[in-house]
Amino acid sequence: MELITENSRKTQTTSRRGFITKASISGLAMGLFSGNAFGKSWPAEGITQNRQVAKPAIKITDLRCAIMGGSPVIRITTSEGISGYGQAENNRSYLKPFVLFYKDYLIGEDPTNVERCMMKIRRMGGFKPYGSAVSAIEMALWDIAGKASGLPAYKLLGGKIRDRVRVYHTGVGVYRVGVEPQDYAESAAKVKERKEGFTIIKMPIGFHSRMGKEVPNFFYGDPAGPNNQPHANRGTLTEQGLKRIVACVEAMKKVLGDGIGLALDLGPGHMLSDAIRLAKVLEPYNLMWLEDMLTGDYRPYVNADDYLELTRSTTVPTHTGEQIYLRQNFRELIEKNAIRVIGPDVADVGGMAELKWIAEYADLHGIQMAPHGIFDGLIGNAAQVNVAATMPQNFIAFEFSTEVQEWWYDIIDGMPDNIVKDGHIEVWDRPGLGVEFNVKAAKKYLADDDKNFFD
Ligand SMILES: [Mg+2]
Repeated sequence: MELITENSRKTQTTSRRGFITKASISGLAMGLFSGNAFGKSWPAEGITQNRQVAKPAIKITDLRCAIMGGSPVIRITTSEGISGYGQAENNRSYLKPFVLFYKDYLIGEDPTNVERCMMKIRRMGGFKPYGSAVSAIEMALWDIAGKASGLPAYKLLGGKIRDRVRVYHTGVGVYRVGVEPQDYAESAAKVKERKEGFTIIKMPIGFHSRMGKEVPNFFYGDPAGPNNQPHANRGTLTEQGLKRIVACVEAMKKVLGDGIGLALDLGPGHMLSDAIRLAKVLEPYNLMWLEDMLTGDYRPYVNADDYLELTRSTTVPTHTGEQIYLRQNFRELIEKNAIRVIGPDVADVGGMAELKWIAEYADLHGIQMAPHGIFDGLIGNAAQVNVAATMPQNFIAFEFSTEVQEWWYDIIDGMPDNIVKDGHIEVWDRPGLGVEFNVKAAKKYLADDDKNFFD
């Protein structure tokens, strides 16, 4: 049995140990007082100063991973019958052994001590994609902590400061946009017409698009690239290449006007000198941000000094961070003000509390938040909604996960089909992440190897 006293709770909430400790302890204690925890009841009037309250032990009994539609889904089971779920980016089925690697470290731990669990496993993660398993497990722990206390995860992360969270859309068919200005205009028009009413659109362009391979004389390098993976090209732009990017931006702005924000995902792959001149020439278009011009997706490093020089050279906000793991690796970017906007992905950075810490630290330095998340799936979206509700006012919007199969909406309860309205998602008030599997419907998407996932 673990004991919580009113006095010890007060001591912890007034200490300088940080908001997570405060939020976790007071949040969980609130759950106990409201009588929701583990289905047992403690009358509120029975709680008095210095009265000790017995909290039933809850222990992790299993950690499972199933690949559903290409997406690794994590389930943590407990001695109290509560399960927590998390999800890594889709198309990462290879992560299953990485998830299961952490199982022995977690069995027997109290999952509501989220940070203590994370201290055991966080040190064994890495930059994208090797922080995914740690991040998805962290989501599942908050899901359990919330369900055990009868509170939404956002309450445990400090409580919400907004009732709805803004999301942004990444252009139609992420890697399938054509390379002509007309293609960009049509893609922008398609997103603009969507019923979700997105107020910010991000488009892949430059080396984050097919331009490197398909625009003749786009850059001084080998268009075939080192392999056939996305964003493999890197090199110096030709004048024609630079002008093609600008022409496509101009075409999109004509469609979107000044009522919908336009952000560009550009790389990685641009050289620093090109990034500086490209940002300069794009200044008249009032763009939301220029993302990952230098480093980024699947680059296991930060290059803060290069971003610092770029950021100081232009009025267009710079953006990076989707591949970066842990708050420590954002430190240099933030403390040097090397970037204007950062975009950690909740499913790569180390999880929900990690994202919250980074958002708070960024806000202290005047840096904005636009978290990445296009491949995070519905459980990842639920995690994003819960964190975004708590972020300070440096929050712009998070990237809505559009790259999911439609059937996910049939197997997840708690997330309506038309979840985005007027470019926002209403923050829900259900315990934990607030979404649950419809087990009967979900089972048919389990591979033979994963048949016991929900048992
Ligand atoms: Mg990106």
